[in-house]
Amino acid sequence: MKILAIGRNYAKHIEELNNERPDEPVVFGKPETAILKNNAPFYYPDFSNDIHHEVEILIKICKVGKNIDQKFAHKYYDEIGIGIDFTARDLQSKAKAKGLPWDLAKGFNGSAPISDFIPKSDFDLSNLNFSLKKDGQEVQLGNTSFMLFNFDYLVSYVSRFFMLKKGDIIFSGTPEGVGPVKIGNRLEAFIEDKKMMDFEVK
Ligand code: MG
Repeated sequence: MKILAIGRNYAKHIEELNNERPDEPVVFGKPETAILKNNAPFYYPDFSNDIHHEVEILIKICKVGKNIDQKFAHKYYDEIGIGIDFTARDLQSKAKAKGLPWDLAKGFNGSAPISDFIPKSDFDLSNLNFSLKKDGQEVQLGNTSFMLFNFDYLVSYVSRFFMLKKGDIIFSGTPEGVGPVKIGNRLEAFIEDKKMMDFEVK
């Protein structure tokens, strides 16, 4: 399986990092080895002093496809989840300054904690609230109505470049409120009022 992730998909997050608003989705990948499941702890890596949380809604691909038309894209994902796109912001800032790739900053071991997946049919995906608490305090609150590119557009767009296969996961971008984590933090992620993930930084 593969993980594709979308950067700069929420305007207020673009502003907080002083990035440019993209004309097309910003797409990057994470390797399968980035995944943490079942509320496994995240171990703070020794190569960064500035790991940031980015809470994001995930969609899981349910059938193979490429060059998918946007109007059929909804048939290619049937479950959603929530995940953290952990980012070594110090490494990413260096890479961005030099125009170099983000792989080290975004794809390291444990950089993709993910929840279990639940049927999308239970939700209105165009108006979905999701949030992240750090040590009990809400730090990020998003709503999918503020996405620059919606799920169907993202599936259609990435499928022009990457054949999508059953089990692939798309991270759909983070809203504002990203910030650092520290050893000892507890992170809890929610879709609407349902707690989906609860784990520690060690
Ligand atoms: Mg992200």
